[in-house]
Amino acid sequence: MKLIKQLDIVLLLLWCILSFNFIENVNSSLISPILPPYHICLRSIEGPVIYPSDSRFQSLIIDDNIRVNYTPSVLVYAVNNEDVKNAVKCAVKWKTDIVPRSGGHSYEKYSLGGRDNVIVLDVTLINDITINSNSEPKTAKIGAGNRLGNIYVKLSEAGFLIPAGTCPSVGIGGHALVGGIGYCSRTYGITCDNVISMEMVNAKGELLHIDSTSHPKLFFALRGAGGGSYGIVTSYVFHIHPAPPQATYMRFAFNRTNLAQVHQLIFALNEVGPLIDNKIGLKLRLFKTSLIATVLYLGPRTEAKNAMKDFLSKAPERISSEYNQLTFLEAIIAVADVSEYDMYHPSHHPIFFKLKSFYVNQGEGLNQAAINDLVDFSNRASCEVLTTFDLYGGKINIDRHNTSFVHRNALYCIRMQMESYEALSPQCIDEMDNFGRRFQYKINSTSSYQGFIDRSLDNWQSRYYGNIFGKLVEIKNEYDPNNLFNFPQSIPISY
Ligand SMILES: Cc1cc2nc3c(=O)[nH]c(=O)nc-3n(C[C@H](O)[C@H](O)[C@H](O)COP(=O)(O)OP(=O)(O)OC[C@H]3O[C@@H](n4cnc5c(N)ncnc54)[C@H](O)[C@@H]3O)c2cc1C
Repeated sequence: MKLIKQLDIVLLLLWCILSFNFIENVNSSLISPILPPYHICLRSIEGPVIYPSDSRFQSLIIDDNIRVNYTPSVLVYAVNNEDVKNAVKCAVKWKTDIVPRSGGHSYEKYSLGGRDNVIVLDVTLINDITINSNSEPKTAKIGAGNRLGNIYVKLSEAGFLIPAGTCPSVGIGGHALVGGIGYCSRTYGITCDNVISMEMVNAKGELLHIDSTSHPKLFFALRGAGGGSYGIVTSYVFHIHPAPPQATYMRFAFNRTNLAQVHQLIFALNEVGPLIDNKIGLKLRLFKTSLIATVLYLGPRTEAKNAMKDFLSKAPERISSEYNQLTFLEAIIAVADVSEYDMYHPSHHPIFFKLKSFYVNQGEGLNQAAINDLVDFSNRASCEVLTTFDLYGGKINIDRHNTSFVHRNALYCIRMQMESYEALSPQCIDEMDNFGRRFQYKINSTSSYQGFIDRSLDNWQSRYYGNIFGKLVEIKNEYDPNNLFNFPQSIPISY
């Protein structure tokens, strides 16, 4: 037994040396046939196990954000809980880091580890959706490998919805663990508020059933701070809600070049935003040359017009207005600004991007000087910047379920994104980081959204998790004391 263990260690060392040489010295077109020593224990996996020597490997590590890239030692595609358990046990045995991936939308590529040479456990093939419309409340069991597009389609065909973001290719696996904010959240809360229970494989390779009574601390930690830190979630049971027979998609364009009108629009959001009907989801987008409000109302057009009256009466004159009464799914496709094909067949659209987020609390909406700063940055930045105001309030701001998503007093979350089909220059990234640091102090924003994870954010521990960070560390110690599940901004075992 001892001899076998020693042999294991020798093999592991040999593999590390050879793969290090491979990365350092060998032209990338010559693929090393050397497999990591744990490939033997990964043979028990039923799903595909793909090594760098496989011709499919390179395309399978291109996720949504191609600004950062890492190379795992293997991609393990689990098809069931047993596969996840076996892969975790294998990683523990070989003292190798293992990282879960669902939709691959981490802004910093943390589902590839945030560094090279980890085992990536991909759950995209665990993708069943089972609706139970006889239970009270009505529920759906959703495999962690589903993307939001699949979920919107399948649930709306049965007359239901869960509140979630709108980008169809985002994975529910990572989304529900960071919060999950979308156009239906002011009505039904955020995605993690609607989780009733989940299944997760822990650091010992055991499957846990987690809900408010079974592992309640873990249930708390996973809903807001769960992405990649505590274990690998394989499925969720969600509380589902009726999809309205009609929904209204609205789009209003304003004059972007008139600074006074930009002020007026954001002041209208500051003043009327908290009072807007909860059936409204609203995003304001400031581009370099345009200023657009996109709105979803969960009901017919006549009601929608009424619900928007107060806000529009305070807003500046519009260049154009659209009110389109649609089915719920059509309205989600419209606000997501994607094709029907993309909603039904969600896939990555790889692009280079960098993002900053700033929470602005109720009663503290941006003033004239801050708006000027934002507009000025957007005008002069070396790369194109898109600034989005996601309106909060309604059910987003009520934590009825004791979660670790702490941003419950926000008026809006501002997300500022640089994106391009060409690599973003270091100058652009520096400009963005410098502006972000200055702006967050200027507007007194002390928190940011962990779903828009940002490796260069200062004090991320408190900005993402406020005063519950210590509690999250305690729970981490209870469930993963050896820090098997880690990435550069994961919940640590000490601080
Ligand atoms: C284009 C785009 C649009 C977005 N729109 C919105 C939006 O409208 N609203 C919003 O709230 N957010 C939005 N996000 C942010 C998104 O919710 C987060 O990035 C989320 O974590 C992505 O989940 P994923 O499964 O796709 O990503 P992944 O990259 O697979 O995972 C993200 C993190 O979660 C961990 N993780 C993944 N799966 C599991 C699992 N099964 N168990 C445990 N940990 C896991 C990973 O290790 C990684 O650390 C958007 C992101 C992008 C790129």
